[in-house]
Parts: sequence; C-alpha cells; structure tokens
Amino acid sequence: MTAEAITHFIDGAAIASADGSTMPSIDPASRTVWAEVSRGGAQDVDHAVAAARAAFDRGPWPRMTQAGRSAVLHRLADLVLAHGDELALLDTRDMGRPLSLTRANDVVRSAANLRFFADDATAAADEAFPGHPAHHIYTRHEPAGVVAAVSPWNFPLMQATWKIAPALAHGNTVVLKPAEQSPASAVRLAELALLAGMPAGVLNVVHGTGPGGAGAALVAHRDVDLITFTGETRTGESIMRAAAAGVRGVSFELGGKGASVIFADADIDRAVAVAADAAFSNAGQICLAGSRVLVQRPVYEQVVEALAKTAAGLRLGDPRDPATQVGPLSSAEHHAKVTGHLRRAAQDGATLLGGGAHDGWWVAPTVIVDADPGSAVCRDEVFGPVLTVHPFDTEEEAVHAANATPYGLSAMVFTDHLARAHRVAGQLRAGNVWVNCFWVRDLRSPFGGFGRSGIGREGGRHSRDFFTEAKTVVIDVS
Ligand code: NAD
Repeated sequence: MTAEAITHFIDGAAIASADGSTMPSIDPASRTVWAEVSRGGAQDVDHAVAAARAAFDRGPWPRMTQAGRSAVLHRLADLVLAHGDELALLDTRDMGRPLSLTRANDVVRSAANLRFFADDATAAADEAFPGHPAHHIYTRHEPAGVVAAVSPWNFPLMQATWKIAPALAHGNTVVLKPAEQSPASAVRLAELALLAGMPAGVLNVVHGTGPGGAGAALVAHRDVDLITFTGETRTGESIMRAAAAGVRGVSFELGGKGASVIFADADIDRAVAVAADAAFSNAGQICLAGSRVLVQRPVYEQVVEALAKTAAGLRLGDPRDPATQVGPLSSAEHHAKVTGHLRRAAQDGATLLGGGAHDGWWVAPTVIVDADPGSAVCRDEVFGPVLTVHPFDTEEEAVHAANATPYGLSAMVFTDHLARAHRVAGQLRAGNVWVNCFWVRDLRSPFGGFGRSGIGREGGRHSRDFFTEAKTVVIDVS
C-alpha cells in the first residue's frame, strides 16, 4: 500500500516543506507507515506565521462582526459532522484510539467545541463603569493577534478544536502545530474551514516535531502573540522559556496524576465502573486519568478484586473493530515507556494483577497493588492503561494521599455522604473534581490544573480572557 501524502496548510493552500523533508505517520494497529507527512522547519513556520500575521493585520477576520465569525464556525461544525467518518478514521489511523470513540465522541465533541465558542463569543458583553458625570468609561475585549496552538496526540481533533475554536471566535488568527504522531485530522480541519468561508491565512497548520523542529520554531517566533499548549509538563517548561522572549502570554494544559478516592459508604459497583473507566479509557492516554485509586480499608479487597475483574474483561483489539475497547498505544516509544513502568513496578516490589504487554503496541489494562507511593509508577504520569490501588483509613489520610503529587488536574470522589462529598471536593488540590462521576463537562466552566498541571484556565469566559486583550477606554463627555 502506498502511503498517503499529508502536507502543511498555509495561507489557504496545501504546501510541502520548503526543504522537501517528510516524516512518517505510523498506524499503531498495523505498525506500518500509512502517511508521509511534511516535516516543517523554521522556514515553513515563518511562512505560516507571516500568513497569520497578514490575515490578522490586514484581513477581514478580526474586523468582521461577531455574528459573521460565528456563522463561519457553525458552518465548520456542520462540515466536521458531515465529514465525521473521514475525520474519525484519520485520528484512529494516526494514534490507535478505537474508531467507535473517535466517531461517536471526538467528532461530536469537536463540532460542539466550535459551536460553543461561536455562541459564547456572540453572547459576551463588555462592561461600562458609571458614576463619572464628565467621563464615559468602558472596556473592550479585542483579538490578541497571532496565536500559536501546539497540541498533543491523545485526542487529536478534539484537542485542536478546543484550542482553535475560542482563538478564532474571538477574532485571532492561528498557526496550529499538531503532534507529530497525529497530524492528519488537523490539516483536513483547516481545509474544511476554508470551505466554511474562513479567509485564507486565518487558520494555518504546520507539521513537524517539537524540540529542534516546527514546534520549537513556532513558539520562539517573535510574530506570535499568544501560545496555547497542551502536552507534557516538561515541554511546558521549555515553551515557557521560549515565551519569555517578547513576554508572550501562555495557557498550558499539562500532565496529570489523578486520584479516584473511594469511600466505604459509596455505591461500590458504580465506583469501580467509573474508576476503571477513568483509568483505562483511551488506553489510559488521558491527562485526566484516575491512575491512583485510593480505597477505604473496609472495602479495599472488594474493590481490588472488582477492578482486576473489570480490567481483565476489557476487550483489546483492532481499533477499527466496533467491539474494541482498548486500542494499541500510540507509538513504539510510548509502548516502551509504559511497559518499562510495569517492569520497574514489579522490580520495586509491587504486584501486578493481570494486564501487561501484549503483541504489537497493546498493553492490557493492569491493576497494581502494594506499590510504594513514592515509587515511579505511583509518582510519574504513566499515560497507559495502568492503575495503582492503595488503602486508607480516614478522610484526612485520603485527602493527603490524593494531594501528594506535584500535579493537580483531576480527582474523583466516590461517596454517598453529601457533606463528605463537598468537604473532600473542597480540599482536593485539582482543577477538576468529579463526585460519583467522571468526564462530565460544561464548556462554560474553567478547565485547567493546579501545580504542574498547567497555567491558566480555558473554557467560556476564561478562554475569552486569554484570547483577547482587555482595553479600558475613558472618554471626556463634558
Ligand atoms: P508532548 O509535550 O510531548 O507534545 C505535545 C506537543 O508539543 C506536540 O505537538 C509536540 O510536537 C510539541 N512539542 C514538544 N516539544 C516542544 C518544544 N520544545 N517546543 C514546542 N513544541 C514542542 O506531549 P504528548 O506526548 O503529545 O501528549 C501527552 C501529554 O499531554 C501528557 O502529559 C498529557 O497529560 C498531556 N495532556 C494534557 C491535557 C490537559 O488538558 N491538561 C490534555 C491532553 C494531554
């Protein structure tokens, strides 16, 4: 089979790298190269940023009515849904997430991201400050400029739309650098944006690697005004250094090491089902994953047994098979990282209940008990279908253990005790706390993390605050 060609998308046109170089995109299920992707460098980034700059400084997009921009984003959402099968398959081929999920969840959520921010920007109002007889004082939220959006591979289309929808809705222009493992849906999205009526140069896509590649060149580019990044905490540190030059704003959604805290008074069957989903869905490649399960001692054995049974019952398989629940991990490197964690956990004295490496790049959902909370598997973000289980006695102990991580993105609490639910939710150092549930979102609410899980919040007015410059105008009306 000949590999498909995927190019950059700059100033409204598909274009290969200036130096002609390419990189492979490997289908994790077959471990074969399914696409050859233009590998961008500094020259391609210059081209894309210049297109975005021109579209911002002189083009119609920042100067359109809000209703006009929103109409384009709604048309793009329509096109995303109309091309849903194709877009879902691109993500599945790039990174191995089951097609049933890329189709039913990610495509639908991507369209919802576009529609939500189109409507939210339309509904937004500015303030006036009365009480000054001689002056009229009011604010304006103006587009910030050229936005660099650097996204990860774990939900490619969903992450891309989560970043670009608010940036575009508020009148900015964008250069998107998708992860090198998952370039395909981003470029298709940019083509569809053009079809939806978005002017050329407003949404540009450059492919390439991070350090030493298009990613690093993009975030260092002096014509970029704002950087929105989702990925690893270490990468965030490096991007922050680059953003310091020119004092550019950053919004970071970084790694996590979430805890699911199960109290003995909880509905245990439900808690186990949700905690297993929080740890194993998308093969654990979720920043919000509940990779540490803390269980109150009276139900500890029961929960461990039920989690191990649930894990063993999840169906591994070809991500295109609708029955598959766990696809392969996204890449050989990532598979090596996750299986390395499992080996080391066993060496460190923990017990692995089932799971482990499979043929190809699959890792079967793995439940680990008796791991030292200070050991690597409990401390580091594994980003695979792996959870550790730990007993606790008191509420205080549970909160302390859940918070014993430099990350602070997500936490889940399972209890039937109303006061405890509120009390514990208030004490957990995490940007998202779910009680007796997981993953439920309202796009108006702030999304982001405490500590090393990020900087800033996105969603609703939080995205507006980041993607616009607020200006105060004072007019002498005397
Ligand atoms: P990554 O940091 O390796 O890469 C993310 C993106 O950054 C890619 O596009 C990559 O090319 C680019 N990049 C890498 N180094 C760069 C550099 N020096 N300068 C500029 N760009 C650079 O992350 P990943 O492996 O693609 O994604 C997994 C990580 O993302 C996990 O840590 C996960 O928790 C995190 N994540 C966080 C959230 C959240 O909302 N907090 C959501 C999804 C994923």
